[in-house]
Amino acid sequence: MVYPTENAVDLYVTDFTENKRLGNREYRTNTPYGLPNESILQITLWDEHAEDGEDLQIGTFVLLQNLHAKINTNGDLVAALHGDRELRRKKINVLDKNDVEIAKLIRRRNAYYEEHQNSLEYHERDSSPELESDTTEQSITNDIKDCPEPVGLFRTRGRVISVIPSNFEDFSRPYCHRCNKIMNFAEYENCTQCFKKLKVFKYDFGLLFEDELGAGTLPVLITNEDANTFLDGLPPVNLYKNPMFLQKLKDRMHKLLGNVLKSQASCGPLIDFCVMSYEVEDECNKFIRIYKMFDTILED
Ligand SMILES: [Zn+2]
Repeated sequence: MVYPTENAVDLYVTDFTENKRLGNREYRTNTPYGLPNESILQITLWDEHAEDGEDLQIGTFVLLQNLHAKINTNGDLVAALHGDRELRRKKINVLDKNDVEIAKLIRRRNAYYEEHQNSLEYHERDSSPELESDTTEQSITNDIKDCPEPVGLFRTRGRVISVIPSNFEDFSRPYCHRCNKIMNFAEYENCTQCFKKLKVFKYDFGLLFEDELGAGTLPVLITNEDANTFLDGLPPVNLYKNPMFLQKLKDRMHKLLGNVLKSQASCGPLIDFCVMSYEVEDECNKFIRIYKMFDTILED
């Protein structure tokens, strides 16, 4: 919120769509939550609306009525809500949490974060250099799992207690470029969606981490480029047909797991890793949280 003059308040809102004419100068480079400036509309609230707008919290879902759109002197599309001292009609409405519009906004927000994951990671990394330092290690239970933010980046430490899928051969599976989809089974020769012949393999697997004290667990997804980084030097191939690579993968994983496979005791080594936390919608339209590894190399 910015105060341009005495009886006005500038509000910055997004509905997670983009418009080329949007883009306030203030937010050219450093937009909140890594949103592109084409998705942020500046609205100047005048008079009584300025008073209403002042009480809004960041992250509130609002419906604004009777906005006047205009192009400002910078050539940016902006909007204003003018006051009417006599009628004092309420034009800023905070939406009820069950409002159908909120469900639509959240769906768009999550789709947006899904689509822009990589650029968001870079944005967050640029704007939070402390992520690199040793002092910001976060705990699996208190910091990561209890974090209410839509997207979070964390650095933590834990040991691997389980792997998914249980067959190392299935860690790498065929990928369809056209559908941007990794198949569920390594033996598939054609895409299950578009029936295209599949040639490329990609890693896609999960590791269940336990924190140092054994107080909490975190399922971490490791896929695509992040998996190539994690398994540095082991390219994604058909592991059923490449026994040499399969053996190397097994060696690394067994080292990571310690003897947990035999005795169920958690005695693998503690490793430092980075995870991104975000929400996606499952087939039943329910939101589930994904923890995805990034920037982590498994030392050989
Ligand atoms: Zn396909």
